[in-house]
Amino acid sequence: MRLVRYRQGERTRPGILDRDGNVHDLSGLVDDLHAHKLPGVTATVAAANLAGLPSAGTVDGFGPPIAGVGKLIAIGLNYRDHARESGAEPPPQPIMFMKATSAITGPYDPILLPPGSEKLDWEVELGVVIGRKATRVDEATAMDHVLGYTIVNDVSERAYQLELGGQWVKGKSADSFAPIGPWLVTADEIANAQGLRLTAAVNGEVFQDGTTADMIFPVRHLVSYVSRFMTLHPGDIICTGTPAGVGMGQKPPRFLRPGDQVRLEVDGLGYQEQTVVPAEA
Ligand code: ZN
Repeated sequence: MRLVRYRQGERTRPGILDRDGNVHDLSGLVDDLHAHKLPGVTATVAAANLAGLPSAGTVDGFGPPIAGVGKLIAIGLNYRDHARESGAEPPPQPIMFMKATSAITGPYDPILLPPGSEKLDWEVELGVVIGRKATRVDEATAMDHVLGYTIVNDVSERAYQLELGGQWVKGKSADSFAPIGPWLVTADEIANAQGLRLTAAVNGEVFQDGTTADMIFPVRHLVSYVSRFMTLHPGDIICTGTPAGVGMGQKPPRFLRPGDQVRLEVDGLGYQEQTVVPAEA
């Protein structure tokens, strides 16, 4: 199933897409697609007769497809070609960092350029959504803990990330640096998470065009690995890294400026589109 949270006036409501892409209202069945209630929500929706659901009517936009995400964990340099363009060796173990959950926005919301920022960058990523608590799970059972997938733009400010010392989290966490969605696609709809094409274009020019087949550490390994260090809860999202073609890797580097439009697409997960606007000082 493809779940969404759609906006109607001031309200955000849970919805589901039908085969033709029309949104149907789920608010008669569930309150919201809240992270910690996701297992129950998907069970309820799976048992419902979707033909009987009301249409959503006029949709004003989309929020992130999960409300109240507890953790946004990201994996660095998980594609060889991106490690190369970053001037780094492929890591022997997954590099983990966190993105602030306050950075989460909807898939078509603007990216806010922080005042004075000159190195704003894009990263198309497969987001793995946890559906069942995972503490120290092995690789063989890791996928039982995955509810589904979504697109994440791991928006990054490279000067904050790499030039100010300390951890990458500084460059990964400003408001709007984590557009998520448009859909939460349940795992049963994705036959092979390691065979998805991902692309990112800026103003129509394609910069990233990769495949999740090139991940150094596949999804099952990442879920198992992260769960060694922290318990994963329903609705937590692992951003699994980005292929080559980010702005930092261009010669000369190509960073985002106000007015730029970023479009990200992952097979089976829809697309995102954001326009860069200056944040209020
Ligand atoms: Zn990333």
